[in-house]
Order: sequence, then C-alpha cells, then structure tokens
Amino acid sequence: MEMDSMLLIPIILGWVAGYFVNYASDVLPFIRRFSQPTCPHCQTPYSWADYLTLRPCRSCGKRRSLRTWLVQILAVAAFLYFWLIPSKVLGFWLGAIVLIYFGVITVIDLEHRLILHPTSIFGAVLGLTVGIYIHTKAVGLLGGVSKTLLGGLIGFGVMFLLYQVGAFFARLRAKKLQAAGQADDEEEALGGGDLYLLGVLGLLVGSNAIWGVLLVGAVLGGLVAILLIIALLIRRRYVSDALMTFIPYGPYFIIVAFYVLFLS
Ligand SMILES: [Zn+2]
Repeated sequence: MEMDSMLLIPIILGWVAGYFVNYASDVLPFIRRFSQPTCPHCQTPYSWADYLTLRPCRSCGKRRSLRTWLVQILAVAAFLYFWLIPSKVLGFWLGAIVLIYFGVITVIDLEHRLILHPTSIFGAVLGLTVGIYIHTKAVGLLGGVSKTLLGGLIGFGVMFLLYQVGAFFARLRAKKLQAAGQADDEEEALGGGDLYLLGVLGLLVGSNAIWGVLLVGAVLGGLVAILLIIALLIRRRYVSDALMTFIPYGPYFIIVAFYVLFLS
C-alpha cells in the first residue's frame, strides 16, 4: 500500500534523529564539540561502522548503553507518532528539530546534570527563530516578536531569581562543609544552565505559556525530590544528603514545554 510505505520516511528519519541525539550525548559533555565517539568504558574510539550499527566495543567487549537503545526506539516512536499526528503549532519538520534539541538536553542533563553552553547557544538561535515564526503566525509580526522575546525574558528572569535563592543555600552549605573540614565541592542546587534552558523554552512557548511551564515543571521536580527524600529515608540515609543532592530540573520543564508544543 502507498500509505504504508510512506511510513518508512518517519521511521528512517527517527532512527537518524536517534543517532544524532546519542552521538551529541556521547561526545559533547566531554569535549564540547563533535568528534570521533569513544567507548565510555575503555576510551577506545569506535569505528563509524561499529558505532552506527550499535555494536559492542571491540576492545573491551562492553555492550552499548541501555540509553543508546532507548533513544533509538523512542526517537522512531516519536517521529512516527508526530508524522501521523503533527504538532498543531510546529508541524512535522520544525517539530522534528525541536524534538532532537529536547532529546539532547534531556539525556545530557540526566546523565551529567549539566546543560552545556554549545547546546544553550544552539537553543537560543532555535528558540528565537522558531518562536518568532510560530507566534507571528498566530498573532502577527509585532505581537509575535514581543510574545517570543517576553517569553524568553520571563523564563530566564524567574530562573535567575530562583538561582539567587539557590546560591544563598549553596553558600550556607559551603560553610557547613568548611566547618566539617571538607572542601567546597561547588555543587549547585539549580544548575546555571537551567537559566538558559528556561530562556529558550520561554522563546518557544511564548509569554503566556511560560508561566505554566515554570509552575508545573517546578511542581513536578519538587514531587520527584520529595520521593527521592522518602526513598533515602527508607534506606536510612542521612536526610540532608537528599537535600544536598543535585536534581536535574531541566527534564521536568522540558516535559511541560513538550506538552504545550506538541500535545495541546
Ligand atoms: Zn571499550
């Protein structure tokens, strides 16, 4: 059937998008640029043929990570779904680019608790162009541009204020560590990268929806933090460990922005 063979397009594109998310997540946190991927266990470079066919490392024999497979499968599933039911605001192609960006940020934040500068810069360009495009379509050029810029400003600004609160607690913690004779490990409750991420999400969803993204994302992250504390309590770990544990908040905000852009 004609219809069925058309579905090969999103399946192949999704698989390739999965490659890109995996590749960016494999190399960017370590060298901040694109280069030959290496085995995370023994640092031997993969041949491109082995890397793309998801083979185990030839040097140490370790299999590719579960994340590698999950990303490939989820990317194909998402591309297939949004090919059949495209985002109303973004359409399929812009949606695909935003999905890849969300994927890279989420995987790197979950694995390294980091939002990298190169991805933030890419995100700013993406947020500006895509934001102005979709909001201009909805409310005209002047309204669209201001909705986009204001959204970015609110996202960045609110996170900046929260960041100041986080910095205050980080200073308290540094004192506590010094008192205990330990060096300050410079762990932050809220990573600086979250400022830029929320700025980008604000550009994308605009000045109205960014409030919902901030609120629901913070509540989701808070709920997970409470569950984490309960889990640590059950395992009789020191409670202040949990409060001191850095929680990657980025993915929670991305989930809400994803809902706004793709499912509402
Ligand atoms: Zn290896």
